[in-house]
Amino acid sequence: MEMPNTIPATLTQDLLEEKYTLAAEKSLANFSFFMGASNDNEEEVLKTDAKKVCGVKIFMGSSTGNMLVDNLRTLENIFSKSKLLIATHCEDEATIRANAEKYRQEYGDAIPVECHPLIRSAEACYKSSSLAVELAEKYNTRLHILHISTAKEVGLFNSSIPLKEKRITSEACIHHLWFSNEDYKSKGNFIKWNPAVKTKQDRDAILQGLLDNKIDIIATDHAPHTLEEKKQSYLKAPSGGPLVQHGLPAMLELHHQGKISLEKIAEKMSHAVADCFQIEKRGYLREGYFADLVLLDLKAPWTVTKTNILYKCGWSPFEGQTFQSKITHTFVSGHLAYANELFDESKKGKRLLFQR
Ligand SMILES: [Zn+2]
Repeated sequence: MEMPNTIPATLTQDLLEEKYTLAAEKSLANFSFFMGASNDNEEEVLKTDAKKVCGVKIFMGSSTGNMLVDNLRTLENIFSKSKLLIATHCEDEATIRANAEKYRQEYGDAIPVECHPLIRSAEACYKSSSLAVELAEKYNTRLHILHISTAKEVGLFNSSIPLKEKRITSEACIHHLWFSNEDYKSKGNFIKWNPAVKTKQDRDAILQGLLDNKIDIIATDHAPHTLEEKKQSYLKAPSGGPLVQHGLPAMLELHHQGKISLEKIAEKMSHAVADCFQIEKRGYLREGYFADLVLLDLKAPWTVTKTNILYKCGWSPFEGQTFQSKITHTFVSGHLAYANELFDESKKGKRLLFQR
């Protein structure tokens, strides 16, 4: 499920369908694309077909691509009128701007990347996430808050009702479960994300939130910025990083470290994703369902290097990391798409459909 902050930004139904057409021709994986919102495309947003599109993404704080929706009336309109799943990027823009100004006065343009989680602060995240929850409760909106990055936000979510009954859900991303602010020193802009990677306490609380079912699903980022872009100074380097290839091996590594069971990984990366988005006939091993499967070897150590990275951008924040587990085969909608480092590119992935 890909985000709308692309070039061009996905702000009309025509641009959205163009992506689906391209993916049907090219994508080896099954796919869906989020519709994008801005301060002035409400009509287009409300035309989105909930059965064929995963949801609408609202940036309640500007990130890469500048699709900020900060007009409270626009937010109220979309939250109250939309029958779609609304997925939000929550960081309060005014807080971020004030923090950035403070660090600019101290460092000029040479702000070190270690300041990223202080500029895009925990307070900025909570202020925005709590507003999204407040609006969703007011209008009974189907809200999904993306990439939770702080301990405090975990407290916004309910674990007393089953996922299928929830109107407000949330997700954790691999990079927020793996890295902490101690890694900026060695990884620099390669772990510059929005929302920012924060402290070890935040990281551990997000994992606990997953285990307690306050956070519903595990997701990955995938923003394959080039090496040249990421090697620029902190203020110039774009946020985001490539992650789809290493998401599952990283979670399995947390399993080897005794932090999460294999069953919980399958639940949070497959079953719960299907339940959360009401994806039709996927996410479970069931008769009549599509076979979207991975075959793993849990005892096959390997190290991430430039030579085994499959991203076109050619780098990964995991370079040098040894994983104990390896994906050996991948089945996509019933056909063998990947086996022992070879792809079958003759068959393509399918557009996801939703039971709403
Ligand atoms: Zn986002």
